[in-house]
Amino acid sequence: MSHVLHRNLMASQPSIVGGEGAYLIDDAGNRYLDACGGAAVSSLGHDNPAVRKAICDQVNTLAFAHTGLFTNQWAEELSDFLVAHAPKGTGEGRVMYLGSGSEAMEAALKLARQYHVERGEPQRAHIIARAPSYHGNTLGALAVSGHAGRRAPFDPLLIQTHHIDATYGYRLREDGETEEAFGLRMANQLEQKILDLGKDSVCAFVAEPVVGASLGTQPAPKGYFTRIREICDSYGVLYIADEVMCGMGRTGSLFALEQEGICADITTMAKGLGAGYQPIAAVMASQKVCDAITAGSGKLWNGHTYMSHAVATAGALAVMKEIQSNDLLSAVKTLGTQLEEGLRARLGQHAHVGDIRGRGLFWTAEIVADRATKEPFDVSRNIAGKVQQAALSAGMICYPAQGCADGTAGDHILLAPCFTSSPEEIDIIVDALANAIDQATT
Ligand code: PMP
Repeated sequence: MSHVLHRNLMASQPSIVGGEGAYLIDDAGNRYLDACGGAAVSSLGHDNPAVRKAICDQVNTLAFAHTGLFTNQWAEELSDFLVAHAPKGTGEGRVMYLGSGSEAMEAALKLARQYHVERGEPQRAHIIARAPSYHGNTLGALAVSGHAGRRAPFDPLLIQTHHIDATYGYRLREDGETEEAFGLRMANQLEQKILDLGKDSVCAFVAEPVVGASLGTQPAPKGYFTRIREICDSYGVLYIADEVMCGMGRTGSLFALEQEGICADITTMAKGLGAGYQPIAAVMASQKVCDAITAGSGKLWNGHTYMSHAVATAGALAVMKEIQSNDLLSAVKTLGTQLEEGLRARLGQHAHVGDIRGRGLFWTAEIVADRATKEPFDVSRNIAGKVQQAALSAGMICYPAQGCADGTAGDHILLAPCFTSSPEEIDIIVDALANAIDQATT
């Protein structure tokens, strides 16, 4: 019997012992083409020599010194890199480092609150996010998440938050409505919500620039974020961009928000930051937020033992350098176009694929029972799980998600191949996914 608590209870769960490029290898020697990198984590494949070396070198030099007293070269260089590449308008920001996406979201919420308190507006306490959405598993991050299924058992423990609709174009865009009109209609929900709550009472708005797990790689409609920025600025609300999943090159720019032409006040990053080589997350505060703190207490009201851990920041800096020196953002765009074209060619007319959406190397097929009515399969059929199992049996790993978990959205299969994939591997992924969907839906 396994004593690992989070282990899948499935008796046949393989034990992974190695990785080679885009492949994971189990203890029986089976090779799995990793088409999702966990959940958009492993952007450089599983055996990157430069990242491994940077981590080993730091372990061999010094593993840990408390960053309450000391800084280190890697945290400094990584912060310089992230701030230099942040979306225009972020200014001279600063970055803090944590261990997971959920921790980063907690820290971002606290930072937003600190900003308002420092500026003498302690009445600003409401957080608005979107539904469906997923922002993490800890109580604060879960409270922000618009995910009925994950929240349900913990509801009495969650702080009160407010939600507007996520930009789920496949189901929410009306017949004949232009993309711009849809974007504007959805963004204006934020203004209405702020007015309902009291225009000086809102602390922050939280949204992923490109939605990941909860809605299946959903980019925003054109103009949506321009209007969101305008609304936030008009009402003194901070915009927290959750780039935990979509950031760090996944959509073809280092920050996904860059492609929307606006900047965030606070940005969270995680998965692709360490690319799986180290558990590391980050929160970037824009100059506006830093200035308020400098003018106020001058101190960050948040701290964790392992902040700015030297091994983790050394690994993450090496990941960033690999992306930059190998021009992997261009590779994301080229391979992403190939992936999109392949998916549309193989699945665009499939009787059970209602929508194909995404950006860069971040794509989703939404599976439905009826393409004409968009009716999802009954949740109890666990179609997404069946697609995952069929793909796994054929040697490919993909990420299943069941939209809102309440039957109002279809099953999603999410793909997030590594940026170092070969064109042949992208073709294999498309083929294996199409076969797995056929198997699971017939
Ligand atoms: N935000 C988003 C958008 C995520 O996708 C996730 C994880 N899937 C998180 C936050 C939480 O990250 P973690 O699992 O590292 O705590």
